[in-house]
Amino acid sequence: MLRIFNTLHKRIEEVKTLEPGVARMYTCGPTVYRYAHIGNLRSYLMADWIRRALMNQGVKVIHVKNITDVGHMRQEQLERGGDKVILAALAEGKTPQEIADFYTEAFHQDEAKLNILLADHFPRATGHITEMLEVIQRLMDNGSAYGAGGNIYFDVANYAPYGQLSGNLGEELLEGVRVEVDPLKRDPRDFTLWKGAEAGRDVKWDSPWGQGFPGWHIECSAMSTRYLGEEQDIHTGGVDNIFPHHEGEIAQSEAAFGKRYVRYWVHGQHLLADGVKMSKSSGNEFTLPDLEGRGFDPLSFRYLCLTVKYRNRLNFTFTALKAAQRGLTRLRDRVWTWRRAPSGNGRQGKETKEWRQRFWDAVDDDLNLPRALSVAWTVVHSSLADQTKLELLLEFDQLLGLGLAEGSGSFVLPRETQNSLADRESYRVRSRYERADEIRRLLGIRGYQIRDTKEGPMARPKTSFELLEERWPSVSSSREVPSYIDSPSTTDYSLVVSASDYLEDVKRCLNSAFKWSSGSSMEVVAVDNGSTDGTAEWLEELQASNDKVRIVHCDHQLGEAQAKNIGLTQSRGRIVVMLDTSIELTDIFLPRIKGLLEDQAVGVVGAWGIRSEDLQHFHEEVVSGEADAMQGYCFAFRRELLREVGLMRECFRFYRNLDLDFSFQFRNLGYRIVADGTLPMVRHEHRQWSALGEEERDQLSRRNFNHFLKRWGNRKDLLLANAHH
Ligand code: AMP
Ligand code: ZN
Repeated sequence: MLRIFNTLHKRIEEVKTLEPGVARMYTCGPTVYRYAHIGNLRSYLMADWIRRALMNQGVKVIHVKNITDVGHMRQEQLERGGDKVILAALAEGKTPQEIADFYTEAFHQDEAKLNILLADHFPRATGHITEMLEVIQRLMDNGSAYGAGGNIYFDVANYAPYGQLSGNLGEELLEGVRVEVDPLKRDPRDFTLWKGAEAGRDVKWDSPWGQGFPGWHIECSAMSTRYLGEEQDIHTGGVDNIFPHHEGEIAQSEAAFGKRYVRYWVHGQHLLADGVKMSKSSGNEFTLPDLEGRGFDPLSFRYLCLTVKYRNRLNFTFTALKAAQRGLTRLRDRVWTWRRAPSGNGRQGKETKEWRQRFWDAVDDDLNLPRALSVAWTVVHSSLADQTKLELLLEFDQLLGLGLAEGSGSFVLPRETQNSLADRESYRVRSRYERADEIRRLLGIRGYQIRDTKEGPMARPKTSFELLEERWPSVSSSREVPSYIDSPSTTDYSLVVSASDYLEDVKRCLNSAFKWSSGSSMEVVAVDNGSTDGTAEWLEELQASNDKVRIVHCDHQLGEAQAKNIGLTQSRGRIVVMLDTSIELTDIFLPRIKGLLEDQAVGVVGAWGIRSEDLQHFHEEVVSGEADAMQGYCFAFRRELLREVGLMRECFRFYRNLDLDFSFQFRNLGYRIVADGTLPMVRHEHRQWSALGEEERDQLSRRNFNHFLKRWGNRKDLLLANAHH
């Protein structure tokens, strides 16, 4: 029997469905005006595992997953310039419906790639306005809701158990209500069931209370009831759904129907990235196609989610995903070899029963999938007969959902590959290992992975991940890169460039840098920060033809400070010159920078300084002479100073204000910052900036400025304006 943590009672409970043998289950589904990120997908995976666990017990699961479509594309948000994607699509002349269709389709594709079983119903909010109005009407009729100013509100004061799910009562609850208090509400806790359409709004429906559109919570109450009835067994979502969404759902459903709405509320913990919840607004989201673009099999993400309990946060890193990908490939390889070389029949009744028991016990124990997965691995490593292992693994995979049955089974080896494989084997048995290894290497180049098994050698096509991994080594974080900070210098200058796409800019910057530094002893440390547009390949070619170039590839886009720190720790020059890729050099520049840094009191030099009187306003015009900070476009210093001032602070994920922060690390130790506007370089369009929408820029800039202020906000004494000489 499946036991699961019920948020409503804050304890693990055995799942007993209302109707024996049937589970009615609802999953709060996607909002389809953007791609789902893999954090969202983690929530849907959890629901999928619950469903598979129930199915294993022979329970028939009726699964509903709603699609929140155009009804909730807030017009206000659109008009404020909210979502880039919607704006872009609207600009292309698409209707909101077309946009919703597009992302719904993308969502279904994501689910399919993750082997998430199809829900029985995917109701769309816009298709169920009638049902929503019916629930609202009931609430109006029985005095649980009231109208004010064309809106209908749920009257929380009239529903005593409010707060039962989230535990949010009184004061905390008020804090949870983020929006400024609507004066039309009787109680700030009240929430909108129906909102009157403002003038000019396109997406709206008729109702007994005038034209308008539904609140968010009512959508799930109405649609779950429509497909599952007034009493339901399981309702799932991410923990952020607990309040206010699910709290609101319970209140309005129970007030409307007078019955217990849901027996088991199950919530999945968040997927984090860089330690914070993955979300669009944090700028740390990845989609499934993003992972595929980096060579990963989508199911590697499913595997990764198996390794952490759903009630724990999972910090997503590419290093962890790589490990998951390797684990998945190894499992598949096992299944593949067992299948291609069936070796007898080895059913061992009692033993297999024990393994089954251990596996399903782990699953039933509040979905302890890490334990279940480790049982699967123990079976793989056990002394059971291969065919028994195969049977067990395929049974376990009905829950795990890793597609082991499909595995890497469906390919045909070309005849010449088979012949080479046989040749290799004949060399091997005659102990001519050099020849054998050479053939293996050549088969590898042709794209085949060779495995030696008990039954002899086998070959399969390499996975896309294996092929990508072979291209060049890459890192997932700055911590994986060795530091030369304490090592002696081996050259005069290190040019540090961090490149994240925009190949033309990278070429212009580096080519001009080489052109104008021909006489100098220098190196270029280029950080390929997760480029996907050919920049990485171009840098590889450059490195192959130019021994002054060193590249570090990042397997995804790291935060700006992390990427730059990789460049800084990898530098071996006496002077470090950080250049932005929007810069083009126009004449010999390195000796001039060296000259400016000869004065040991000077810490940083560059072409564009910044001044401030108050730490609030920063004047970015070219300052020649002393400055409070140096703009990051060109930022040069003696490398030995890194040991004193430290590296950049990696909380700066976006470039903006990072240069201010780093400059202040120098100022704090008393070093001067000197700008020379005559340094021979020009600035082109800064694409990192121009690629962003206004709102996104503001948000990212503000976040960085807060990091800056938190550390330096009370250090006005560091400003030149306040310097006491
Ligand atoms: P949304 O499309 O924002 O309504 O979210 C869809 C589902 O994903 C909801 O169940 C959320 O609780 C869940 N969710 C959102 N962000 C995350 C995250 N970072 N990790 C796990 N689940 C999430
Ligand atoms: Zn919902």
